[in-house]
Amino acid sequence: MRREPLWTCTKCGRPFVKPNHPHSCGEYSVEAFLENKPPDAIELFQRFCDLVKACGPFTFAPAKTRIGFQVRMIFAAVNGLSSRGMRCHVVLTRRLESPRFDRIEKLGPRCYVNHFTIRTLDDLDEEVAEWLNESYKVGNQEHLS
Ligand SMILES: [Zn+2]
Repeated sequence: MRREPLWTCTKCGRPFVKPNHPHSCGEYSVEAFLENKPPDAIELFQRFCDLVKACGPFTFAPAKTRIGFQVRMIFAAVNGLSSRGMRCHVVLTRRLESPRFDRIEKLGPRCYVNHFTIRTLDDLDEEVAEWLNESYKVGNQEHLS
C-alpha cells in the first residue's frame, strides 16, 4: 500500500488507494451537505475549504453527514455544521497536543485523528492552516515514502 497509482471509481470519479474500495458512490455531495445550513455556517465551511486549497489539489469525499477532504487518503473532514459551529478533524502521524483539540483518537501507530470545533471565522487561523498543511502530507501518503 505504498504510493501505487490510485484507483478511480468510474461512476463518481472519486480516487481511492485500494481498488473497488466501498464508498457512498455518487449519493452525496457538498451541495446536499450545505443545503439548509445557516449562511454563517456555510461561510465557515467555505473558509475551511480555502485553507485546504492553499495546501494543494484535493478532492471532496462527501458522505451522508460529513465531508471528507482527500488527496490519496482522507486527511481532514468536516463532521458537523450548524449554527453552533463546525466540527472538524485532521489526521496526523503524531499526537499533537493543543488545548484547541476536543479529543484525539489514536487509530494506528502513526494515525491520530485530532478533533476540533470552529465557531467563528477568526478560529480558522494560522494554527489551523498549519494543522491542515501537516495533515495534507498524510493525505498524500508522504509519511510512507
Ligand atoms: Zn463511486
